[in-house]
Amino acid sequence: MIRAETVLRGLAEVATLSRGAIPRTGAAMEELSLREDAAIALDGGRVAWVGNDRELSRNVRLRPGARSFDGTGKVAVPGFVDAHTHVLFAGDRSKEMALKARGMSYRTIARRGGGLLSTVRATRAASEAELLHATASRLFGMASYGTTSAEVKSGYALDHTGELRLLRLIPRLEHATGTRLVPTFLGAHAVPPEFRGRPSAYIDQILRRTLPEVARRGLARFCDVFCEPGFFSVRDSERLLRAASSLGLGVKVHADEFVLSRGARLAARLGARSADHLLSTPTEDLGRLAKAGVAAVLLPLTAFSSGATRRSPAREAVDAGVAVALGSDCSPASWVEAMPTVLAAAVHAGRLTPAEALTASTVNGAWASGLDAAGTIEVGRPADLSVFPFPKVELLGYRFDARPELVLRQGKPVSPP
Ligand code: ZN
Repeated sequence: MIRAETVLRGLAEVATLSRGAIPRTGAAMEELSLREDAAIALDGGRVAWVGNDRELSRNVRLRPGARSFDGTGKVAVPGFVDAHTHVLFAGDRSKEMALKARGMSYRTIARRGGGLLSTVRATRAASEAELLHATASRLFGMASYGTTSAEVKSGYALDHTGELRLLRLIPRLEHATGTRLVPTFLGAHAVPPEFRGRPSAYIDQILRRTLPEVARRGLARFCDVFCEPGFFSVRDSERLLRAASSLGLGVKVHADEFVLSRGARLAARLGARSADHLLSTPTEDLGRLAKAGVAAVLLPLTAFSSGATRRSPAREAVDAGVAVALGSDCSPASWVEAMPTVLAAAVHAGRLTPAEALTASTVNGAWASGLDAAGTIEVGRPADLSVFPFPKVELLGYRFDARPELVLRQGKPVSPP
């Protein structure tokens, strides 16, 4: 007999995503391994049993004091894995909205002290306690919308000491919030003011000093770079990522966001784990990503907030055979903690089906983030899941404002930090 501390009963549907290849591509992105009239039993922070509600009592015995949750008319899905965030920062850039609305360009805003470098100033000036507090509250916001794992990038310090400080905060944030976090070193997010007009010299410094220390101390799982004209060239990006790879880090690329930077081609050539953004990537280069087994991490809400007229090429990427994952890109430039809204944008603007969007934000998000034990509801796996108060899984991605009624991380309800 299986023992359980928690049971969820009478669920109209459970999307387990428990069968199939990882990551999923093409038609397999539609396969949710759905169960109807289902129950889930949890024990010791893990999934102990999943099956038909009528068979629960024959298979599962509740421990004394066990919790039982009535899931009638509701659905359960795996906890979301947000595969691309810049959630570790200080301050906000709300003042820029009125300037943008009146037609001021990003370049002018930046020249007047706004933009990314204003976040760098705020982040450098913030104490560790301030950064921990602000970021933990965002991670809690994300968790309350069903995100139980997230990739987190450094990149708002842009100097040796500051970037290491940000990376060291990530395990502390994981411990404080309970959200599973994957640290990514993005020292090459932008050219810092100290290296203005000399991006290659800044990359030289990262290669000489910061990257080896990041690798030696095990501070990051991935190295990422903003490969775009005005940021870092393909050549500098390649030097950085090859070095990171040789030091044992996985690699990711911010590719083709504003213009065709050839970042996706670079990601394919290097066998990166993911190429991200891809708003300007031609179909031919999506094919290269598919062939090289590189995931496309798409950020459909950033296409709105950056004022770009293009939409996230989600349909095109799935049709090209690329493993598509989704990210919120939560940052001071595009602040969103609600992953269900990201799914809805991927469906309404990116033209994914709701089932594809769910796959992209769970099992494929986990793969793009290098997480093995996330993104499915499966016996033996961590009990990370959400219950939404509607009877069909396909309402996720259809509704912009879906909000879970219950979110469990390793079997425990999420609570404010
Ligand atoms: Zn980004």
